[in-house]
Amino acid sequence: MKLLDGKSLADQLMDDIRERAEQLKPVLGVILVGENPASLSYVKNKKTACERAGVEYREFRYPDTMTQEELLKKIDELNADEEVNGFIVQLPLPDHIEVPQVIRAIDPKKDVDGFHAYNLGKMFLSPEFEDLPPATPLGIVKLLDHYDIPIQGQEVVVVGHSNHVGKPISTMMLNRNATVTTCHIYTKDLAEHTRCADILIVAVGKINLITTDMVKEGVVIADVGINRREDGTLCGDVDFEEVSKKASYISPVPGGVGPMTVAALILNTVRATERQKSANDG
Ligand code: NAD
Repeated sequence: MKLLDGKSLADQLMDDIRERAEQLKPVLGVILVGENPASLSYVKNKKTACERAGVEYREFRYPDTMTQEELLKKIDELNADEEVNGFIVQLPLPDHIEVPQVIRAIDPKKDVDGFHAYNLGKMFLSPEFEDLPPATPLGIVKLLDHYDIPIQGQEVVVVGHSNHVGKPISTMMLNRNATVTTCHIYTKDLAEHTRCADILIVAVGKINLITTDMVKEGVVIADVGINRREDGTLCGDVDFEEVSKKASYISPVPGGVGPMTVAALILNTVRATERQKSANDG
């Protein structure tokens, strides 16, 4: 078994970006509402990655009493701010704020999380139109590509069908000519599908959802799930200890898809900046 080492690939990608970033001077904005502990840790990782890549990081923090109207106003302001090339609104948001309204308000050209319907819709056309894909799926594709894992013609099984992970990674795998099965909470017999997978991508949020009897020998696994055990340590959705004995490649949690998601956000920020600058030149 080999590890899909997202941490070292992410670091390498950030170092590779530096030279380009020195010319482009990209600026990433991050809006954070409230003090959700997971969100605080995610934005910290994003800030660290920006520093490594030479991307300017601007954080806008608000209390969880911020109203939806105030948040939409801030989004309008960043949409119009020529200095900010891309920005994200860190999720989750407090319950009184409607996430779809917030995502819809972001200018698609600056939507570096890739959550806007415009960017998601473009992805359906072909890989050439994956301009700003959602960061986690982009990170997974970069990880598989780095380890030269073939995708075309492979049986890819995705577990989870959320709008920002399961559905877009299924689309990106289809764009690369895999045979894709997307499973979810209503799938009748999950193991029947996962056992067929050459590549298994799991994005659910349930400890030990995937056990060794559910995979075939030699499977490649990208474990997206982030769960906290009772002792406070993090783990994915796959029973790593047992399943890794059968897998040819498997991503660890932490240190797999997580850092690649952050790296992909920075790649999207650089891409958005390039597109904005070339539009201005032309
Ligand atoms: P979500 O809650 O939006 O969706 C969960 C999905 O799992 C749904 O499609 C649901 O149908 C499916 N599901 C639930 N129970 C199931 C079961 N028993 N069998 C099969 N499918 C089942 O989740 P999300 O936002 O896509 O995130 C999924 C997990 O990935 C979470 O643990 C989240 O923290 C993690 N995540 C990690 C990263 C990263 O960078 N590593 C990024 C995003 C999300």
